Amino acid sequence: MLVDVHAHFYHARTPRADWRERNVSRLTAGARIGISVHVASILGSWGLTSPIYFPSPRDVTAGNDALLALQREHVDRIRGYVCVNPNYTAHARAEIVRGLDAGMIGIKLAASRRADDRLLDPIAELARERRVPVLQHIWQHRRRDWPGQEASDAVELCTLARRHPDVRFILAHIGGGGDWLHSLRAVHDVPNVYVDLSGSGVDGGMLEDCVASVGVNRLLWGTDLTMDTGWAKLRYLELLLTKEELALVRWKNAARIFPPGAFPTD
Ligand SMILES: [Zn+2]
Repeated sequence: MLVDVHAHFYHARTPRADWRERNVSRLTAGARIGISVHVASILGSWGLTSPIYFPSPRDVTAGNDALLALQREHVDRIRGYVCVNPNYTAHARAEIVRGLDAGMIGIKLAASRRADDRLLDPIAELARERRVPVLQHIWQHRRRDWPGQEASDAVELCTLARRHPDVRFILAHIGGGGDWLHSLRAVHDVPNVYVDLSGSGVDGGMLEDCVASVGVNRLLWGTDLTMDTGWAKLRYLELLLTKEELALVRWKNAARIFPPGAFPTD
């Protein structure tokens, strides 16, 4: 078993004319890498009709619908996070209920609102009720604001996680660029924050420091938009960890934090 906890797909109403090919190439590369299940999200229209990090309710719904269709089409291989924009509380909560009832297994928050903002509380509360994890897009040590997004870093995610100790939060793409050491220091003693190893970064020492900071029980393997370095990190982990530890990172931790039956484990 190998679960990719951070995947993305496209659909017809996104800026990519080659959206269909990109979806196929992810599944083809996934088969080569040995990925059993891609846990994916679609961020609205990926910027076509509303901003990537501030999707309109209509685009949020359309993106989730496209992902639900993919999940139905590839029932053994694709699972979805419900992507929501927490600035629209009522829509976000209704969308989470709709997506989870239709078979999605988690919640995706991008950069629509800072993670420590009170507007995220109604989302986290629903995650607790429905016992699903929240994947939060993270900038590894944000030193300033960036146009088009209200990015959060690990310190802000940990503030939210401490307010909601019964919810599992996934800190997105530790290899996604920026100061990952800053993130690892922040999450070290926050037991309900898990670290997603995705992102194209493969800095020397990063995987060792992830293990040292949170231990093998809070690491989740993933790829994000590029898959090749995810594969490289997987090969490196095969040398760094014991077989039992590797199984935790490959899938057993994911099986523990996603709803029962989310993955075909037998
Ligand atoms: Zn991503």
